[in-house]
Amino acid sequence: MSTLLESYTAGRWYAAPDEGRPLLDASTGEVVATISSTGLDLGAMVAYAREVGGPALRSLTFHERAGILKALAKHLGAGKDELYRLSACAGATERDAMVDVDGGIGTLFSYASKGTRELPNDTIVLDGRPEPLGKGGTFVGQHVFTSRPGVAVQINAFNFPAWGMLEKLAPAFLAGLPTIVKPASPTAYVAEALVRRVIESGLLPDGTLQLVAGSAGTLLDELGPQDSVAFTGSAHTANVLRAHPSVATGGVRLGVEADSLNCSILGPDVTADDPELDLFVKGVVTEMTVKAGQKCTAIRRVLVPAGMADTVVDAIAARLARVTVGDPRDAGVRMGPLASLAQRDEVRKAVEALRSSAEIVYGDPDRVEGVDGDAERGAFMAPVLLRARDGATEPHDVEPFGPVSTVLTYDGLDDAIALAARGRGSLVGSLVTHDPAVARTLTLGLTPWHGRILVLDRDDAAESTGHGSPLPVLVHGGPGRAGGGEELGGIRSVLHHMQRTAVQASPDMLTAITGRWTPGSDRREASVHPFRKSLADLRVGDTIASEPRTVTREDIDAFAALTGDTFYAHTDEEAAAANPLFGGIVAHGYLLVSLAAGLFVDPDPGPVLANFGVDNLRFLTPVKADDAIAVTLTVKEITPRTTADYGEVRWDAQVTNRHSEPVATYDVLTLVAKTWDA
Ligand code: NDP
Repeated sequence: MSTLLESYTAGRWYAAPDEGRPLLDASTGEVVATISSTGLDLGAMVAYAREVGGPALRSLTFHERAGILKALAKHLGAGKDELYRLSACAGATERDAMVDVDGGIGTLFSYASKGTRELPNDTIVLDGRPEPLGKGGTFVGQHVFTSRPGVAVQINAFNFPAWGMLEKLAPAFLAGLPTIVKPASPTAYVAEALVRRVIESGLLPDGTLQLVAGSAGTLLDELGPQDSVAFTGSAHTANVLRAHPSVATGGVRLGVEADSLNCSILGPDVTADDPELDLFVKGVVTEMTVKAGQKCTAIRRVLVPAGMADTVVDAIAARLARVTVGDPRDAGVRMGPLASLAQRDEVRKAVEALRSSAEIVYGDPDRVEGVDGDAERGAFMAPVLLRARDGATEPHDVEPFGPVSTVLTYDGLDDAIALAARGRGSLVGSLVTHDPAVARTLTLGLTPWHGRILVLDRDDAAESTGHGSPLPVLVHGGPGRAGGGEELGGIRSVLHHMQRTAVQASPDMLTAITGRWTPGSDRREASVHPFRKSLADLRVGDTIASEPRTVTREDIDAFAALTGDTFYAHTDEEAAAANPLFGGIVAHGYLLVSLAAGLFVDPDPGPVLANFGVDNLRFLTPVKADDAIAVTLTVKEITPRTTADYGEVRWDAQVTNRHSEPVATYDVLTLVAKTWDA
C-alpha cells in the first residue's frame, strides 16, 4: 500500500480522508505515494500562520532567526539519504539530487551567514542615511524596513522540490514572515519528507512552516494585503494567479518565476582552436542534460556566428552521444527520465512545434535508443538538438522543458542582441568570449533582458559555477516572459518581503524609534568614559567630547617621516601653496584620524576589546599647522553577537577644527565585552 502524503497544518499532520491521486516513479511507473488536500482547512492554516507563527518569528531578532537557519541547515545536512532516495523516484541522478538537496541546504547556510553579517541584531532595518529635511536640523527623514504581519505562500515547481522550498523559505523566514509551502504535486513526496525533517528538528517556531500536500484549492482566497505569493512554474499558472482577485485587486504581492528561453552566445572572436569553444559546448550539453533539461535556467537557444554553426553542432552532438539515459539508480546513467510521462508528452509536442522552423540534427524525440529502462513506463527521452532555419520564430516562443536545445546563427553583435531579446526576457544568458570589447557590447545589450549574465572564458572557467546554477548571493529571476520576479540576491530578497516606510520626525524621535543614534539627537556625556562601560551598561547616545589638541608643523613632519607619506601637500611649502584646494601645507587626513583616536581613547584594560575598522571616512575641511582639533564620539548602534560574549559597537566620530567646522566624519567600529568586572 502506498503512502498518502500529509499536509502540515496548525501544528499537526493532516491526512485527507480520500485515497488521493497516485504519484508515479519517473523511471518505473510504480506508485511512490498518493496525494490529496481534500478537507484541508486553508483558512485555519492562514490564521495560524498569522496569529501563531508570525508573532513568534517577529519576536526574534534577525540574528536569532539566522541562528535557527544555520542550525536547520546542519540538521538537514546530517540526514539526506531519504531525500536522495526519493529524488531518484522523481528521475534525479545523484548529481541532480545534489543540486536540489545540497543546493537547498547551502542556500540556508548562505542566508544564515548573510543575516548575521549584514543585518542588525534587531527587528528593524535602516535603509540609507537620515535625510535632513529642514535647515534647523530638527526635522529628519529615515527609510526603514519592517516585517509585515502576513504570511508568505510559496508555490513551487516540480523540478527542484527541495531547493525550491528552501530558497524561498530562508529569505521569508529572515524577514519575519511565516511560510505556507505548496510543492508541485508530481514530486511532492520529496518536499513532504523535507518538511517532516524540518518539523522533527523542533528548530522552527510553531506556525512558521506549514505544508499543503495536494491542490492549493482556495488558498489564495484567504490572503490579504500583508501577504505574498512566490510562484515558480508555468506561464499559464502564473497568469491564472495574476488574474486572481486577491492579487488583481486585493493587494496580495505576487512574485513570478515562469518559463524562460535562456540563451548562450558564442562570441565572434572564438575560433575552433580556442579553449572557449570547448567551454561553450560543455555548457550547452550540461544544461541540456542536468535534471534532463527540466531547469528554468537551461540553455534553450544556442546562438553562434554563421561560420561556426557546423563546428558547434558537431561538437555538441559528439558530447551528447556520450550521455547515457536511464534509471538514475543504475550506475553509469548520466541523465534520468523526465518527471512524468505527461511531461514527456509536453516536451515532444514542443519539439514538434520547433520543427516547423528547425531541423533535428541530433536525437529522436520519439525513440529512446540506448536507454537503460522501460521506455513505456518510464518517462525517458534522449537529448534532442535542433538547428534553426533563417528567420525561425518558434525557438523564441516555445519552451521545451526537457533535454532540448536549438542552434541559431547570428550575423554581428547587434543581431545577436536582437535574437537574444526575442526571448522577451530570460533568467540567465551566457556569453562565451575572450574579447573584452565583445563582452562589454553583448553584456550591455543583454542586461535589459536578463536577470543574470555569465561571461565565460579561459580565465574564470575553472571557478565558474556554471550557466544554470542560481546562487543565493546573486539575483535569480528575470524580466518579461521570465515572470518579472526577483528571488535570492542575498539580503535583497529579505528586504523584498519587508515594508519600506519613510519616517519623518525629529532626530530624538528617530533615535527612539529606530534604536540607532540619529545625528542631531541628544548626546549623553557621563562622568564614566564610555570605553569603561560593557555592552550591558552602554547606551545609544553615550558620548565623549575631547579637549582640543593643536596640530603642529612638527606633528605633520614627524607623521610624514614615520609613514613615508611625503606627498607634497604635507611637505613642500611652495608646491602646497599652489594647490587650489589647500593653499599651503596641510595635515595628513590619517594623521587627524590617528590624533582623534589618541583624544578619545581610554588606555587601560577594559570592556573595549578591539577596534575592527572605520566606515564612511570623509575628510571635509583641511587642517593647517597650529589649528586645533577636537573629537566627539557617540554610541550609534549596539549589536550584541548571539554566539559570543561580546558584541559590536558602532560609534559616530566627528572631528572639528577651532571654528567647530567638520574636519572629518566616520564611524568607528569596536568589539565590546557584554559584561565587565572593573
Ligand atoms: P504548473 O504551473 O502547472 O505548476 C507549478 C505549481 O503551481 C505547482 O505547485 C502546482 O501545483 C501549482 N498550481 C497549479 N495551478 C495552480 C493554481 N490554480 N493555484 C495555485 N497553485 C497552482 O507547472 P508544472 O509544474 O506542471 O510544469 C508545467 C510547465 O511549467 C513545464 O513544462 C515548464 O514548461 C514550466 N515550468 C517552468 C519552470 C520554471 O522555473 N521556469 C519550472 C517548472 C515548470 P500542482 O502540481 O498541485 O498542480
